[in-house]
Amino acid sequence: MKITRSGTQASQRGNAEWFTGTVRIDPMFQANDAARASVGQVTFEPCARTAWHTHPLGQVLIVTSGVGRVQQWGGPVEELHAGDVVWTPPGVKHWHGAAPATAMTHIAVTEQLNGKNVEWLEKVTDEQYGAAVSSPTKPHGHEQGDDLAAVAPALAGLGERVLFGDLWKRPQLSSRDRSLVTVAALIARQQTIELPRYLELALDSGVKPSELSEVITHLAFYAGWGNAVAAAAASREVFSRRGVAPAQLPATAAELLPLDEASEAKRAGRVEQEFGAVAPGVVQYTTEVLFRNLWLRPGLAPRDRSLITVSALVATGQVAQITYHLNRAMDHGLTKTEASEALTQLAFYAGWPNVFSAMPVVKAVFEQRDRK
Ligand code: MN
Repeated sequence: MKITRSGTQASQRGNAEWFTGTVRIDPMFQANDAARASVGQVTFEPCARTAWHTHPLGQVLIVTSGVGRVQQWGGPVEELHAGDVVWTPPGVKHWHGAAPATAMTHIAVTEQLNGKNVEWLEKVTDEQYGAAVSSPTKPHGHEQGDDLAAVAPALAGLGERVLFGDLWKRPQLSSRDRSLVTVAALIARQQTIELPRYLELALDSGVKPSELSEVITHLAFYAGWGNAVAAAAASREVFSRRGVAPAQLPATAAELLPLDEASEAKRAGRVEQEFGAVAPGVVQYTTEVLFRNLWLRPGLAPRDRSLITVSALVATGQVAQITYHLNRAMDHGLTKTEASEALTQLAFYAGWPNVFSAMPVVKAVFEQRDRK
């Protein structure tokens, strides 16, 4: 046996031909007549990375500290954390390195073929390195499911059985609509811990990323700017994981949908008459920013805008605003069955009292429309 004592092997600087940025290589074990594997510890400073390369017999990377990135040619950039193990099969073109703001150290185990264990290729460009990072779907070592199981296992069981085993499957409202209602309630109540999970569900149910972006924009006005900013922060990782490019998202200036001048004039006149002397600023922005712009943005159908508005109002107990917006929603095509089922969905996501407070108003709207 041979014990190579710590401190007897000099550190080396990663060759600038094959590495970008500052890289330190600490050799650990060299292949010999009997063993084909070489083992080395490599430390990448923030932003540092290898060039693209392949290994004739593959490579095992064991991340021992920090946060890093790895990418196979043609695949997404994946984030790495201490404890992660990466196997790269023979001949697969790839690179590995640190995260932009955090160093990363890994142990690399590489077997050699005919005295060679790596084939170096071109450098990884800043654009390739900085591409959107795809993180593991589940947060590291932590899931809401774990919290519930540890603290309220009965609730975890109910969630599986009543929420996902029953509520979400009820035919009265599509899962796409349920996602919109739920996401609106979470944003309006600033419950951002649950947001990523339901954004994923929304995307899986056919809601487009551009529509989710527009939901956040819309709710800035119906739940408050800060709620929208918090929602954007909580959504960013989901968008990045799903590879949503900024070009796919609605811009500030968009060609607006046609305005129903007559009904808008009626609305503006009523608000002006009632509140023009109380808060002319509110009246002015309500017309200019909300009803002559936000509501006409093409990124979300008027019916969906109304559905998320009503959901946000119910979820935050804003009962006085429900009559106008529920009527508007139904004018935009929301059916009585759908409106009624949205309340059922909201009972779980906004709590029973909010729904019971909304029900008399919803009932009055239904009755008044039935009489027409
Ligand atoms: Mn490699």
